[in-house]
Formats: sequence, structure tokens, C-alpha cells
Amino acid sequence: MIDLNKLKLDDARALLEHGDHELPEPHVNAHVYIQTIIDKLCELSQKDPLTGLANRRYFTNVLSREIEVVARSGEPALLLMLDIDHFKAVNDTYGHPAGDAVLQAVAKTLVKCVRPMDTVARFGGEEFVIILPSCQGPYGHQVAERIRESVSSMKIAVSPGVNIKVTLSVGGAYAPRWVRSTSELWVDRADIELYRAKSEGRNRVCIESQPILSVSAEEKNLLFGPLSLGDPAWIENLASESSVGSSDSAMNRVN
Ligand code: GH3
Ligand code: MG
Ligand code: MG
Repeated sequence: MIDLNKLKLDDARALLEHGDHELPEPHVNAHVYIQTIIDKLCELSQKDPLTGLANRRYFTNVLSREIEVVARSGEPALLLMLDIDHFKAVNDTYGHPAGDAVLQAVAKTLVKCVRPMDTVARFGGEEFVIILPSCQGPYGHQVAERIRESVSSMKIAVSPGVNIKVTLSVGGAYAPRWVRSTSELWVDRADIELYRAKSEGRNRVCIESQPILSVSAEEKNLLFGPLSLGDPAWIENLASESSVGSSDSAMNRVN
């Protein structure tokens, strides 16, 4: 039997009440009460408080699960890294709360542009990440372009009577198929593409082309053997580069 009086729950309760989480009555069923507190604290620990998106901790968990799925199934999965262009200028020109409003508006648009099975998270600062499992054919490019266009066409209200526009740079990399790799290598490759999008002029999408691998069951066994023991980095060399782009446009005030 749980004796609620012996547990120090004040901090947890205060945290949840502050976040508008409803808790059941403690004395009706102590187990239900404690389980609800645990579930809600877990939920809270996976969310970014400003945007309501998944946070980096949640993203890292999903990413390591996804890389395993791709290694086993060969289903293509794409990781997008998205960074708001010249975001510091938004803060400097319109103030930090305006920057926060931009982050919230961009976050909402990202969620609208993807499927429910995709994971959208705030990676940190003005950077977001999206994991797209089962990302067949041109879908990855299409969705990244849709996001870029949707964000660049938004008018974001940052204070009464002031609307601004921002743009995004997007980098993308596919998880290596049929082989074990690491989420760090996957993130690094997407980051390299993001850096390329920035250096090629911003407001553009750069996605690493997917290595074309046709692997038989026998070959898969051969691949999994040595790789599960050794360095997975060699597969990263298989990827060759490609990109699509569009013209740069700096942040504009629109009214
Ligand atoms: P680039 O196009 O190269 O990405 O330039 P940038 O200005 O977007 O990038 P930089 O890294 O110079 O600036 C990012 C800024 O984001 C600096 C930091 O103060 C701001 N920032 C980070 N987190 C938050 C936040 O939660 N709210 C607000 N308002 N600003 C934030
Ligand atoms: Mg950044
Ligand atoms: Mg930026």
C-alpha cells in the first residue's frame, strides 16, 4: 500500500499545477494518483516549454530507435535540420518576446507540413529537427520545400500592428540502410547539409542524395557481421552530394 503522507510530492505537484495539468484526487486511489504524476512528469520532460514541440531529449530517443529500424528494414528515413535565417536580427530589431513569437509560429507551421508519424522537435535556440520515417522517393525534398515555402510566406505578428517575415535554411541526410550507424553521424551529416544551405545563400534546402544500395539477404548478413563489431563510419562515405536551392531572401518587415 502506498502511504501518500510519506512521499514528498509538493514540488512535483507545484510543477504540474503550474503547467495546467489536472491531477486526480489523491485519496480516491493512491496508485492512480502516483501513476498520473509519473506520466505527466515524463510528458513534461519531453516537451519544449516555449513551442510545445518535442525537446532534444525526446528527439534523441526517437532518432536512435529510428536508426535501428532503418538498419534492419532498409526503409529510407530522412533527418531534416532547420535553422531560422538571421534570427539574431529579429531579437535585435524587435526584441526577445518578438523572437519567441517567431519561434512559436515557425513551430506551428512545421507541424502542419508533416505527417502524424513524423517527429518535429526543437533542437535548441532557433534550430529545429524533423525525423521522417518511411520517406520514399521524392517525398523528403517535397516536404522540405513545402516547409521552406510555408515559412517564407508567413506574416508573423510580433506586436500590435507589426508583422514580419523570416526564412529557413534546411539540411537533410538519410539514415544509412542495412547497416549499423550512429545517431551522431546521422546528425552530423544533416548538419553539414544545413551548413551548405547557409553558405550557398540561405532560404534553401540541401539534402544529401541517398546512396543507392541493392543488397541481397546474403550480403546483409555479411554487412551486419563486421559492422556490429567495428566502426560504422565507412558507410558514411557512400553518400554522394546533391542539392536543390532557391534564392536568398533576408528577413523583411511586411507592414
Ligand atoms: P544564421 O542565419 O547564420 O543562422 O544566423 P542567426 O542570427 O539565425 O544565428 P545566430 O546563431 O547568430 O543567432 C541565434 C540567436 O537565437 C541568438 C540567440 O539569442 C537567439 N535565441 C536562442 N534561443 C532563443 C529563444 O528561446 N528565444 C529568442 N527570442 N531568441 C533565442
Ligand atoms: Mg543556429
Ligand atoms: Mg539561425
